Amino acid sequence: MATAESTTAAKSGDAPQPEQKTSLYADRVRIHPRKITGFFRSLKWYTIWVLLGLYYLAPWLRWDRGPGAPDQALLIDMTGRRAYFFNIEIWPQEVYYLTGVLILGAVGLFFATALAGRVWCGFTCPQTVWTDLFIWVERLVEGDRNKRIRLDKAPWSLEKLGKKLLKHAIWLFIAFVTGGAWILYFGDAFEIAGKFFIGQESSAVYGFTALFTGTTYILAGWAREQVCIYMCPWPRFQGAMFDEHSLIVTYEEWRGEPRDKAKRDADFSSRGHCVDCKMCVQVCPTGIDIRDGQQMACIGCALCVDACNTVMDKFNLPRNLITYDSEANQVARSKGEPTQTKLIRPRTILYVVVLSIVMAVMAWSLSSRSRLEVNIQRDRAPLFVTLSDGAIRNGYTYKILNMERQDKTFELTVLGLKGATLQVIGEAKPGSHLALLPAKPDTVATYKVYVRVPREDLADKSTPMVFQIRDTESGEVHEDASVFLGPGR
Ligand code: SF4
Ligand code: SF4
Repeated sequence: MATAESTTAAKSGDAPQPEQKTSLYADRVRIHPRKITGFFRSLKWYTIWVLLGLYYLAPWLRWDRGPGAPDQALLIDMTGRRAYFFNIEIWPQEVYYLTGVLILGAVGLFFATALAGRVWCGFTCPQTVWTDLFIWVERLVEGDRNKRIRLDKAPWSLEKLGKKLLKHAIWLFIAFVTGGAWILYFGDAFEIAGKFFIGQESSAVYGFTALFTGTTYILAGWAREQVCIYMCPWPRFQGAMFDEHSLIVTYEEWRGEPRDKAKRDADFSSRGHCVDCKMCVQVCPTGIDIRDGQQMACIGCALCVDACNTVMDKFNLPRNLITYDSEANQVARSKGEPTQTKLIRPRTILYVVVLSIVMAVMAWSLSSRSRLEVNIQRDRAPLFVTLSDGAIRNGYTYKILNMERQDKTFELTVLGLKGATLQVIGEAKPGSHLALLPAKPDTVATYKVYVRVPREDLADKSTPMVFQIRDTESGEVHEDASVFLGPGR
């Protein structure tokens, strides 16, 4: 357990005080969120079911890419070293698209935060989604908040053991389905599912399924809000994306205070509207009291808004004492001024511009990218060879990456070298100016190419040159610069 010493200032005139030790460790207070209904709770359920549905079902979606190609719509093919997203196919050397996706994700998150605060954390973050699901199971098996608290405090009995075992069994099942679904994105879903249960899958598949099952079970079942409060870096800097027009969950202190307990027919004319029922605390998945002000532990789920509105309705008081609104509107309301929702602001415009630029660049790059890649390596030992007739010869390793799903033939020529002739080992006869290079679909074709130049045509020790290949079918031309070395004059 980590501890740290804290010194206490000796009060003037007093005898020196003994040092007090302050622990940096605090025991976890187990949170039993209470069931609540309302607009935001319903919104959360819709979001959760849609996201879970997408996650579990997406690997089963098929997409016809023609013969020889995998037909899974979303696939990261580890053995084939490709990623497939419907009709987009990404090769390992195109991994920079992943950078584009990450930039889109990050700027999208900044944009959503500037508009609606911690909407990602409260509604769509996987930790929130699965924790909500696990709490729902817990409530189903053990009952609502008070029953769960009583059960946890009660001594062990057959009933308690049965309920705990059932809950953990369902949690483990969900965790297994979740971990298993993740694996399905990395291979053919039907094939993996078919082999998995008869013990024919690879140890990697079983290992990773166990790993993701374990992490889901621990993070959503046990760690829960601790992930948001202690492990996640996002709450630490998301405050920088807010401004006074971002929607956030806050308690309207000017209306709620001074708080006090109240009966249904209480007179609220000379007191605050908060009846100190603590419903907002009891429904909170991170166990905080939003009445203490903005806190890093608040994930912006807005369940306290639903809870407080239920209470306000019972007391016939105006709703939204805890509100999901901008700071500017709250200030305006406290002064009796009109409110307005300001979505178009310099920072939201900036995020939209950045998002649009990144999307446009990615779309242009994807639509115009070549399905052909060439890599040339010049021989270094020897740098050149003097042939028996005095001509100079350089050797090159020429690699053609044909990313299409059909056979291709390319015409290879050399530009910028007077009198140059080509010899491709196994493909062309010496002395020709043109060589035909076939490339099988989806493969790298490697050729040894010799370029021969009469000595009298070489003016310098190093002569720039260009290798040009032309697709014999489409006419697409690809050029790569290189050099030809010789002894000089
Ligand atoms: S304070 Fe309210 S919005 Fe914040 S986490 Fe708790 S219930 Fe959700
Ligand atoms: S739910 Fe509303 S009335 Fe009850 S304690 Fe919270 S803020 Fe006060």
